[in-house]
Amino acid sequence: MKNQLISIVLPVFNEEPGIQATIDTLLNYIEQQEEDYELIFVDDGSTDKSVQIINKALEQHSNIKLIEFSRNFGHQLAITAGLQYTKGDAAVVMDADLQDPPEVIPQMIEKWHEGYEIVYGKRIQRDGETFFKKFTAKMFYRVFRKLATIDMPLDTGDFRLMDRKAVNQLLKLHEQDPFVRGQVTWIGFRQTSVRYHRQERFAGKTKYPLSKMIKLALDGVISFSLKPLHFVNIFSIVPFVSAIFSLGYMIASNNFSLVSIGITVLLFTLGLLMLAIGILGSYVGRVLDQVNNRPRFIVSKTKGFEQRNKAIHH
Ligand code: UDP
Ligand code: MG
Repeated sequence: MKNQLISIVLPVFNEEPGIQATIDTLLNYIEQQEEDYELIFVDDGSTDKSVQIINKALEQHSNIKLIEFSRNFGHQLAITAGLQYTKGDAAVVMDADLQDPPEVIPQMIEKWHEGYEIVYGKRIQRDGETFFKKFTAKMFYRVFRKLATIDMPLDTGDFRLMDRKAVNQLLKLHEQDPFVRGQVTWIGFRQTSVRYHRQERFAGKTKYPLSKMIKLALDGVISFSLKPLHFVNIFSIVPFVSAIFSLGYMIASNNFSLVSIGITVLLFTLGLLMLAIGILGSYVGRVLDQVNNRPRFIVSKTKGFEQRNKAIHH
């Protein structure tokens, strides 16, 4: 039987200090495995020597591949691009800084062999990350779950294994600002997790400053939730109720001064405006859904069709 091929996708952005160690660790890991592997590095517009280092390794090892972006397009698009080039029966996405240990991959493969199409790494512990990062990440996942229409598992990053079938479906999503972990949840299939201990970065600094984290969080919420729009609607109740109180106060105190009338009218108008914005938002949400152009559903299996067709022909 032909060996199974596993593609590993590694987004790289200025990882010069640690990329050689990553390459060595992975090559060493691959040598000990039964499956065949391809390593797909996606250079996300690095300005340091990352590309040269990868190129050198590429010349010596036929299972190393490199995709170079013309500039920095961001981690999520680097993952998407890498997946597009995978040939494997399954694909694994991992950080290029050794934070996601390759020893976890065999456990993922085991689950995959059990029939799960998606096996995500669940972080039980995160080393070497600031309290602020861990806290905001934890909060984000919890708030996101409340807002989103998808049931995204808590505390998972982009370290995961996906069956070819799932990769192909994922690649049908053409969002401009993809939130990959949300998309993966969205496509469905049988999903499970393996728990792992997230290591400290081997070298270099995080490439996720606060600004990129905020963008990621917003992309996630905007792609998978319309609830923020509804909040505008709900909060319009505040000016409406205030307007009623203001009117009541005017009547009770028999004070129909220009200022009181002005305030009441203003409050009422504000409520109307907020309501109007909320309604507009609902339509914009629909437009967003349509523009995103996700498939409306994904079929995982069909049965009985071939036989029936045969029966008709005989
Ligand atoms: N990365 C990327 N483009 C970016 C930012 C990060 O390709 O704009 C890569 C980075 O080199 C790493 C992975 O994405 O391999 C995750 O980034 P990082 O390790 O800095 O994030 P953290 O693990 O700190 O959340
Ligand atoms: Mg990292």
